[in-house]
Amino acid sequence: MMLLRSSGLALAAALLLTGCDEPAEAPAPEEPAAEVAETQAAEPMAFTYADPERGGAILTTEDEYTSRVQPREAGIRAKNAAATSFQDYAVRYKADVQDFTEEERAALGAVIEKHLPLLDLLMPLLPDELVMVKTGSVVEGGLPHTRANAIIFAGGAIPEGENLEALFLHELHHVLSRANQDLHDDYFALIGFEPCTLEEPEDLKAARLTNPDAPSYRHVMPVELAGADAVTPYLYATSDYSGQGGLGDYFGLGLLPVTLQDGVCTPVAEAPEGLLPPGEVPDFLERLGGNTGYIIHPEETLADNFVYWAMEREGLPTPELPEEVGTFWTEAAARAQN
Ligand SMILES: [Zn+2]
Repeated sequence: MMLLRSSGLALAAALLLTGCDEPAEAPAPEEPAAEVAETQAAEPMAFTYADPERGGAILTTEDEYTSRVQPREAGIRAKNAAATSFQDYAVRYKADVQDFTEEERAALGAVIEKHLPLLDLLMPLLPDELVMVKTGSVVEGGLPHTRANAIIFAGGAIPEGENLEALFLHELHHVLSRANQDLHDDYFALIGFEPCTLEEPEDLKAARLTNPDAPSYRHVMPVELAGADAVTPYLYATSDYSGQGGLGDYFGLGLLPVTLQDGVCTPVAEAPEGLLPPGEVPDFLERLGGNTGYIIHPEETLADNFVYWAMEREGLPTPELPEEVGTFWTEAAARAQN
């Protein structure tokens, strides 16, 4: 279906009036897609539900995440301790793609429709197409995430109501952020992070659990800490694959202390045992604002605050942070428009 984009209100009207007479060129009838065309003839933005073939292609495309996967985490994702790389579990991922049900498409369509004004605002910064992929519980242990311009609704079902809205917005943020990595230094500074070049010690790197939504560590937060200048949250796998459990059962999180000089940060810890519990660095938690417990990476903390901005969540400990996030993207979109 084709939607004309203008102001939010006119947009809603256009939605209601859409008769789907316009034959969209790409999507087949069983793959309904909403297309938002700008009144002043910029690129249209398409929302596509991937069929299993396209979903499989998206999941098996190599990218920054797949290139950074370490043997231990590959074994956990493959459920095979002998696996060592993304290639060793890519086939399992491909086979896990499902079709969305009609109910799920309707629910997602309603969320997209509700947030068309936001999508409209962000359009200069977003890819031309946003692809939705559904998978079972094999892909990333059933945890929703993103790859390139695709949102992966993992776990075999999508949530309902506000949970779906929050999930869509959180993942949309990752697509937005990935497409605008040149803004990360300024963006992550909203929660006190600054850029650095981080070389991980081998033992720590071997335990790394690479997050597809934030596969790299390029920023640290300066804090008051004996023997270090800054920290970064660091996600690691607690053990090799043991024959039991899924990805989420292996999550370990600690703060990696680093010294910081001229934009280069040198880790003080050599292995996961040297990471600090976040509660031991109160500066760190305080600077993140306390709106969300999702503190594994600045990208994730900001994603949740983006959700709070878009959903106008009230009663947060640091209400100004979602506002700052919203202002950041609004101004960036205005600059990109010009
Ligand atoms: Zn996320």
